[in-house]
Amino acid sequence: MSILSDNFHETAGWNLEHSYAGLPKLFHRSTLPVPVRQANFVIFNESLAMELGLRADVLKENASLFVGNLLPTGSAPLAQAYAGHQYGHFTALGDGRAILLGEQITPKGERFDIQLKGAGQTPFSRSGDGRAGLGPMLREYIISEAMHALGVPTTRSLAVATTGEIVRRMEPLPGAVLTRVAASHIRVGTFEWAAARGSQEELQALADYTIQRHFPEVAGVEQIYLRFFESLMERQAALIAQWMHIGFIHGVMNTDNMAICGETIDYGPCAFMDAYDPDTVFSSIDRNGRYAYGNQPHIAQWNLARLAEALLPLLHENEKLAIEKANEAIHSFQGRFQKHWLAGMRSKLGLFTEEAEDSALIQALLEWMQASKADYTTTFATLSQGKPVSEEPEFTSWHQRWIKRLSHQQQSMSDSLQIMQKHNPVYIPRNHKVEEALSAASDKTDLSVMHRLLEVLGKPFDYSSSLPEYSRPAESGSCGYQTFCGT
Ligand code: AMP
Ligand code: MG
Repeated sequence: MSILSDNFHETAGWNLEHSYAGLPKLFHRSTLPVPVRQANFVIFNESLAMELGLRADVLKENASLFVGNLLPTGSAPLAQAYAGHQYGHFTALGDGRAILLGEQITPKGERFDIQLKGAGQTPFSRSGDGRAGLGPMLREYIISEAMHALGVPTTRSLAVATTGEIVRRMEPLPGAVLTRVAASHIRVGTFEWAAARGSQEELQALADYTIQRHFPEVAGVEQIYLRFFESLMERQAALIAQWMHIGFIHGVMNTDNMAICGETIDYGPCAFMDAYDPDTVFSSIDRNGRYAYGNQPHIAQWNLARLAEALLPLLHENEKLAIEKANEAIHSFQGRFQKHWLAGMRSKLGLFTEEAEDSALIQALLEWMQASKADYTTTFATLSQGKPVSEEPEFTSWHQRWIKRLSHQQQSMSDSLQIMQKHNPVYIPRNHKVEEALSAASDKTDLSVMHRLLEVLGKPFDYSSSLPEYSRPAESGSCGYQTFCGT
């Protein structure tokens, strides 16, 4: 392991700070990446590098930096400690295969974690090898960048580089490291860790740090920790509503995979729904449908209840009163979610005004979609172009009802179609297209399929392009499609 020269550091634009390392030792362990045989870039995100204030031309010559064989000057690698409820069961976890290099301060003064995922064993690896396979890391790259283009808060992907080593999973996979960029990696599970293993001072240090970094709007207010929790719930409600609007299924909403800052994090067995069905599950290990599409708001609330439990000592010194406050706050989640969901669904249907019957109108469309197994994305994209979706009488009568509802507002049909086209994507990462890109990249080392897909996914609302191959679902549908954690 060597450290790059200052000269290189200056020209590359690294500007790393380490505020997280200032938290008590309970929350992190200094850990170096484990060097690998041979680093080679598979993909490098030049536009993201630029946003971060990094020089793509310089960094593109140094794949070693993106597997952990070289460290950027100014880095201070560490693994973060956290716990989590996995499928409902509490477990101590921590970064078992991810290493935080530091926080890049961008030219705009924003702070982003730079993390290597798959960089070798850490003190939290348990029996894991600390590594990641190329396919799953490219999957995270593709879906996270697609989510970003869709306007959903998410971690980003700066690079994927192969390690020249093989990782053993269900089948041998080429090893790879993903460089992940996040507003932070503080999770619901980080607070659960503090509550389970730390003192009240340590819990408070984490809360104060998180407030300063992500919720400056509540700094200094009365009942600060309760306001922090409410503010955080509001962000989660908005996030999950956005997932629901685009048909995104996270797949493994364990509390360790829920970022406090409100970004989507940890793209494992995630996938987009094709035919509308709230029970849709793709993850091979989610046998009971705990993380099914329609269950996501409920699970978010469940996860936030675990967070509230962890925060109890900060909510009030009297435990009974603390529980009362937490309960009251948690019960507001459903209303918060509903507000965001309804607002987004109104936009998806071109509604500028609010009427009491709107919920029923939306529900009726969803019910028709479910009964006729209509593709979720195509249905809304077709409506957004003013075209009929189906000739079935059930749909026609819904359509008339919708047209009548539109006539209640001042805005014209063309105003409605315009707003609809901003909210209803034409292009989402269709499961078969993602698989096609991954297999071309992993099996045949042909990256052109993935680059083309990323280009299309970078403009999800581009109604002027006509690329049916990317907009329509697989002919066989997604029935039986399964995703794997790939860990
Ligand atoms: P995930 O399912 O990716 O959210 O990971 C859950 C936990 O398992 C986290 O603590 C990870 O760091 C850990 N983990 C996942 N894969 C590995 C691996 N290959 N080696 C060590 N730890 C891992
Ligand atoms: Mg995780």
